[in-house]
Amino acid sequence: MGCIAGPHAAISTLRVNGFEARLSELIALEGPITVERYMSLCLQHYYATRDPLGARGDFTTAPEISQIFGELLGLWAAEMWMIMGRPSPCHLLELGPGRGTLMADALRAAKVLPEFRSALHVHLIETSPVLRESQRTALAESGVPLSWHNRIEDVPSGPAIVFANEFFDALPVRQYVSTERGWCERLVGLRADGHLAFGLNAEPEKTLSQSPQRLGEILEIPTASIAVAGTLAHRLASDGGAALLIDYGYWGPAFGDTLQAVHRHKFVDPLQEPGEADLTTHVDFHWLAKAGIDSKAHFHGPVTQAAFLEGLGIETRARSLKQRASPSQAHDIDLAVQRLTERGEKGMGELFKVLALSHPDLEAVPGLPMGRFQNAEL
Ligand code: SAH
Repeated sequence: MGCIAGPHAAISTLRVNGFEARLSELIALEGPITVERYMSLCLQHYYATRDPLGARGDFTTAPEISQIFGELLGLWAAEMWMIMGRPSPCHLLELGPGRGTLMADALRAAKVLPEFRSALHVHLIETSPVLRESQRTALAESGVPLSWHNRIEDVPSGPAIVFANEFFDALPVRQYVSTERGWCERLVGLRADGHLAFGLNAEPEKTLSQSPQRLGEILEIPTASIAVAGTLAHRLASDGGAALLIDYGYWGPAFGDTLQAVHRHKFVDPLQEPGEADLTTHVDFHWLAKAGIDSKAHFHGPVTQAAFLEGLGIETRARSLKQRASPSQAHDIDLAVQRLTERGEKGMGELFKVLALSHPDLEAVPGLPMGRFQNAEL
């Protein structure tokens, strides 16, 4: 653990970007901040000031890799809508829609069921003004009513179908380190030379009952994700509907530091370029499922992204696209499908998992088994 300087650390000599200078100033004035607050401040700045996606950005996501991803989710939503008893109107929500690519592809695929499409009101939960603009452009021709909101709570009540792809990994987490005193919260402070460094709260957090296997173990608690999943589940349980949550992650509980920073498609030190790199953590789906159950919803899965997309017919859709494609386009389609479904370290097929939350009456969610076994465990 790095040492932490008090309020008098010199910051004026640092060559830093404007955000980093303000962050250092805040820490110099207030003292060390939690990792959660550090992530939150960095991510707000990061997403508010750029489009991070694509080859020229910092990272790429499944809908940006292939149109098939959003199309299959659109078909999933249409099937879900029929299972829900064809409610009209029906809200279609997306949390953190990026460039709006997933939603545009989903709405195009939804044309197979015109009654579904005409029942829809689309709500985009997005805090970044830059990405809201991209979404507006991507969805300009969609022909469905569109609204933007900062929070799920602002979406009018009623049955809803919800997508969240690579959203929960972008929410801040609390981190605790096991010490002889107990679990102490991990902080970010300033070293005497003015550089950011990790540190620890001196007082242990008494409410945590997890037993560490060794000293120095890190425990992540995704308090923001738990709150969002709880709000979402509460809404689904009272108004009806289902949500599809897709992210890279695992089924915990588990220990370990999964905080990572990515800048221009490369891993960097999470404290190195605050607000300029994408900060994420691996999603522990058990917390999302638990938040769902605690709010009287049900959960389904998780399954791997590969199993989910294969179950929804990714191969069939790829074959039909290839019939109308040039040889080089057909090759690109094959590569994209491979990237989305490949197992092992390289691909997204196994690293990414899919979990659904739903109204308790919805026993069948396309592509996902009911999480009964784990229900009992939580
Ligand atoms: N789902 C998209 C983009 C993923 S990037 C895709 O798959 O391509 C994360 C998205 O979440 C961005 O749109 C970002 O602006 C948004 N976001 C991050 N934190 C948010 C928050 N607290 N509230 C709402 N949106 C947020």
